[in-house]
Amino acid sequence: MSNKSKDLFRKALGLIPGGVNSPVRAFRAVGGDPVFMCRGKGSRLMSVDGDQFIDYVMSWGPLILGHAHPEVTNALARAIEAGTSFGAATEAEVELAERIRQAFLSMDRVRLVNSGTEATLSALRVARAATGRDKILKFDGCYHGHVDSLLVKAGSGVATLGLPDSPGVPSALAQLTLSIPYNDISALEATFERHGTELAAAIVEPVAGNMGCVPPSPGFLAKLRDITERDGAVLIFDEVMTGFRVAYGGAQELYGIRPDMTTLGKIIGGGLPVGAYGGRADLMDQVAPAGPVYQAGTLSGNPLAVAAGLKTLEIIRRDGFYESLESRSEQLASGLQAAARKAGVAIQLNRIGSMLTVFFSSPSVTDYESARRADSAAFARFFHSLLDHGVYFPPSAYEAAFLSSAHSREDVGQTLDAAAGAFEAVTNR
Ligand SMILES: *Cc1c(COP(=O)(O)O)cnc(C)c1O
Repeated sequence: MSNKSKDLFRKALGLIPGGVNSPVRAFRAVGGDPVFMCRGKGSRLMSVDGDQFIDYVMSWGPLILGHAHPEVTNALARAIEAGTSFGAATEAEVELAERIRQAFLSMDRVRLVNSGTEATLSALRVARAATGRDKILKFDGCYHGHVDSLLVKAGSGVATLGLPDSPGVPSALAQLTLSIPYNDISALEATFERHGTELAAAIVEPVAGNMGCVPPSPGFLAKLRDITERDGAVLIFDEVMTGFRVAYGGAQELYGIRPDMTTLGKIIGGGLPVGAYGGRADLMDQVAPAGPVYQAGTLSGNPLAVAAGLKTLEIIRRDGFYESLESRSEQLASGLQAAARKAGVAIQLNRIGSMLTVFFSSPSVTDYESARRADSAAFARFFHSLLDHGVYFPPSAYEAAFLSSAHSREDVGQTLDAAAGAFEAVTNR
C-alpha cells in the first residue's frame, strides 16, 4: 500500500489549517491520518493510495444518488458547455425554485445562495428584520453552519473539537442567542415564558443530524410550532440536511409541521455548492430588491449547481425512489443492530430514513447531553476497523451516516460483514 495520503497530509499541514478545508475531515475525532480521495463512483470512493471504500459519508449528505451519477454528470457537462456563470437571471433557476416550492409547500418564495451557512444567516436576518427583535433561540447540538450567531453549542464539528463556542464570535452577539436542550418541551415552555416576545426566531434541525442522528420526540416540533406562533417568533426549519433526504418534502412533510421559513442546501445542489432559504411570502418579500433586507451573491443560482440540483430532484421524484432507499437503510440498520448484539456491544441505533448514527451507548440518545455521553473511544475503534475493511463511515461519533440510491443490497451485505468484525474490535481492546 502506498503512503500517498500520509505524504499529502504532511504537506497539507503546512499549507492549510489542520491540513483540511473543513475540520471533521482531519480525523481528529477518531485519531490517525485522513485518507485522501481521488474518485467517486456510485457507492464507492477511491483513495490516492489505491484503496476502495463503500462510502457512507456521501459528501456529508448531498450525494443521495451516489457519486458521479451519469444523468447528473451529463446535465453538468451540458451546463458547462453553455457557460459556467452569467451573473444574470436564468430559466433553470426559476425551474429549481418552482421544484423546491412544489416539494415544500411552506416556501412561497425561495432565494438561492451558495451554502447552507449563507442560507441560515440570511434567514435569521430576515426574521430579525421582520420582527424588529434581536434574540434567537436554538437547540444544543444543532448545527446551522458557521454563522457567528449560531456557533453556540453547535454540535458535531464544534462538539468533536470540544469547543463549547468559538473564539472570534463577539460575546455581544452570542448573548443574543439562547440555546436549550433538544426535545425538552418543559425547557421550551420556560424559555418562551421568559423570552418568547423578545425572540426574532427559533431555528431547529427538525431531525437533528449534527450531533449524530437524533429524531424529534413526539410533540416536540408541534409544541415549537404552537409556541412560536403564540409569541410571534419566526419558526425556521433548518432542512439543509433533511430536505429531500428524510422525505421529498423534508422533515416538515414527514411530521406535518409548517414552519415560517426553511433553509436548504446539500441535496438541492447535487454535489455542487448551494444553499437556499425561503418561506412565507410576507417574510421573503422583505428581501432585496423586493424589500429592504440586503442579501446578494456573485455566484448565487449559478448554472452548474442549478443543473446538478435540478437533475437530482428530477431523479429522486421518480416512483419508488424513497421506498427502495428506505429498504436498503433498514437492511443496514437492522444488520448493524444484530451484529452489535452478537458481539455483546450496547448500541443505540438512531435512524430516520437514509440517515443514521450508531451511538455506543446503553441509554437512548435523545439530545446533545446523551449523545455526548456515548463512548467515542469505542466509536473510534469501530470506525478504524471498518476503514481497514473497506467501509468509510463518518470519522466522528457525532455525525450521521448516509445511504444513497447507489448502495446495493450487496454493498450493505459487505458492510455488515465488516461491521461484525468492527463490533468485535470494539470489545477486544
Ligand atoms: C451542513 C449543514 C449546514 C451548513 O451547510 P454548509 O453548506 O456546510 O454551509 C447548515 N445546517 C445544517 C442542518 C447542516 O446539516
